[in-house]
Amino acid sequence: MFEDLAIYRIKINYLEDWKVYFLSDVQRLRGDVAFAPMKDDGREWRIVLSWRPLENVRKKYSSVEAQAKETIKQLAKGKQVKSFEIIDHKVSQVNGHETIFYNLIVKYYKRGGLLKQNIADCIIRFLLLHCPESDRCMILYEESDYPIEQERIFEDVIKSFDCHSPAR
Ligand SMILES: [Zn+2]
Repeated sequence: MFEDLAIYRIKINYLEDWKVYFLSDVQRLRGDVAFAPMKDDGREWRIVLSWRPLENVRKKYSSVEAQAKETIKQLAKGKQVKSFEIIDHKVSQVNGHETIFYNLIVKYYKRGGLLKQNIADCIIRFLLLHCPESDRCMILYEESDYPIEQERIFEDVIKSFDCHSPAR
């Protein structure tokens, strides 16, 4: 069962048995909110929604696609990342905005013992859009090592996502 969070005209659904936490102070033009299972059973799985001032982003990137490519480049530079593979890439419309979607499999070094480094797979899916109606750039991403049958949850969260719901 899903419940909904509404903040600064953003709306998004999360599962009722998930926890919700802020990764930073949240303002209208800047924030990071995370959703993760209450009981993770040792698995990695979370969904994060971040937003930033669109003005700053537009100064830096010529397009949404250019920003998405840079996001992947930054991700690949991560110290724990060994390699990554793009599984899917598409351009679609979310709330009337051109939206870039990527699905990646990342191989990363998982902490083992002192001399041991395990390599694990992690799935990262994200969508990126620019919302002029609310002057924000939004990135919604999921990192997980979930079994494949739970892929649908992120898709349902995307469907519920509204970046500029009407002011009351
Ligand atoms: Zn919007």
